Amino acid sequence: LSIEQLLGMNKFVVDDEEAHIKVNREVCASCPDKPCTWACPAGLYSVKDGALSFDYAGCLECGTCRVACPNAGSAIDWNYPRGGFGVHFRYG
Ligand code: SF4
Repeated sequence: LSIEQLLGMNKFVVDDEEAHIKVNREVCASCPDKPCTWACPAGLYSVKDGALSFDYAGCLECGTCRVACPNAGSAIDWNYPRGGFGVHFRYG
């Protein structure tokens, strides 16, 4: 199976009321390398029209963006989803 097929097996219960990851786009705007755009295994970060775009809905809760971000303390507010929400992994 491809990575896309494996990711497609997961189920996500999206918390529409509270994002578990909040991105400060003002801080991100001055980040030259934006490592989140290539480090996130789910590909949730991208640059569109020169601005950082992020959607927490498909988050795998791996924490990679939190570690990779050079401005993590001010750019990414990272928490696990509230109980009952988030990714539900399915294996095979
Ligand atoms: Fe992507 Fe992992 Fe960060 Fe979720 S925690 S946004 S999957 S890098």
